[in-house]
Amino acid sequence: MKDTPWYRKLWVQIVLGLALGVIYGIVAAANGWGEFTDDWISPFGDVFFNGLQLIAVPLVIASLVIGVASLSDMRKVSRIGGKTIVIYVATTALAVCIGLSYANLVRPGDYVPEALRGELATQYEEAAASRQGAAEAMMEERGPLSILQDIVPDNVISSTSSNRNMLQVVFLALMFGIALLRIPKEKGAPLLAFFEGLEAVVVEFVGIVMKVAPLGVFALIARAITGMAGDDPQQVAQLLGALGFYCIVVVAGLATQMLVVYPLVLKFLTPIRWRRFFPAAAQVQLVAFSTSSSGATLPVTMDRAQRDLGVSEEVSSFVLPLGATINMDGTALYQAVAALFIAQSLGLSVGLEGQLTIVLTAVLVSIGTAAVPGAGIIMLVIILQAIGVPAEGVALILGVDRLLDMIRTATNVTGDLTVASAVAASEGQLSDVAR
Ligand code: ASP
Repeated sequence: MKDTPWYRKLWVQIVLGLALGVIYGIVAAANGWGEFTDDWISPFGDVFFNGLQLIAVPLVIASLVIGVASLSDMRKVSRIGGKTIVIYVATTALAVCIGLSYANLVRPGDYVPEALRGELATQYEEAAASRQGAAEAMMEERGPLSILQDIVPDNVISSTSSNRNMLQVVFLALMFGIALLRIPKEKGAPLLAFFEGLEAVVVEFVGIVMKVAPLGVFALIARAITGMAGDDPQQVAQLLGALGFYCIVVVAGLATQMLVVYPLVLKFLTPIRWRRFFPAAAQVQLVAFSTSSSGATLPVTMDRAQRDLGVSEEVSSFVLPLGATINMDGTALYQAVAALFIAQSLGLSVGLEGQLTIVLTAVLVSIGTAAVPGAGIIMLVIILQAIGVPAEGVALILGVDRLLDMIRTATNVTGDLTVASAVAASEGQLSDVAR
């Protein structure tokens, strides 16, 4: 069989789409083509984004039901589940500690000029209030065990009708798979055959959606840039300049997590070589970067984990949907840096107790953050409240949030892939494609 020429490789085309999107976005922002971009370019981005979102719920249901039903015993399910959650939480806690150390060392908040602080507070007042409102509505009347109430849905249709409830979908599919495992084989056979067919269709569907990925990525990036630039592109440059230290600290933290922590996890817990891991992860990272949603990226994450990293279907169909929902290392790291940055720029000091509170709340809050664009900054409000910093402070960082969202989402999905590889390796369920 002949090799595909390099320029026809999907990831090359996606990188091209990304680069052209950046170029177009900058030209469009400079020339005020925002409206044209919204009308004629953005829809292609939505088609790609929606296509991925559309397939995420059926994919999780089909693969998880089959995954569980093919496991011969329940002990295995709980063993894999336990391991997965421990590694997810450990990598997230580490990410928060990295973010905190960098933010304490550099103190980016000290570099924000007084005048700019006032300007940003007025300019983003409304946007900040809406984030605050959303966070407060979420926290209303919530007890300590509310997470349990959140996981168990009371209705099949409503729980599967939104990609924000992925944890409920995971629960539903798990229970369904377990019940299917327990009933007599001949009774369950037609259902199992149905889910096997559904899975095959869904996998094919992902392949079709990915064909438009280069165009979709182009459009998403172009919109992100023109959206950020708004009516005054010069203002973005100014904002990036003024918040430069903050952005650098977040990006340096994310780079450490991506280039040091994950390679170490891979080295010690898997036989995968990181030189093989990163090309496999690149396509997933690119989709995460342009969609800013680990939920929408999930179909691609699962596909690449199985094909390029050799993670078995059984492990990937359980570990990855769970990861897209609860494992957000990039988001947690960003939230820790942002919380300290806001405190520092408001002249408030956060002592040891406050910093420990950040570690705890950032880990918990990142678990509860929905895998959709911009969710991280809403949940940041909860962390700010926990350490007694005024939530209006999010106004300071809103202007550069979209950009950081893209990078933290790429980190989130890399974490999911890393942990899936580690769990698969520990279960002897990793083929040798990436060794
Ligand atoms: N966009 C992120 C994700 O989907 C969540 C966030 O940090 O806003 O992974």
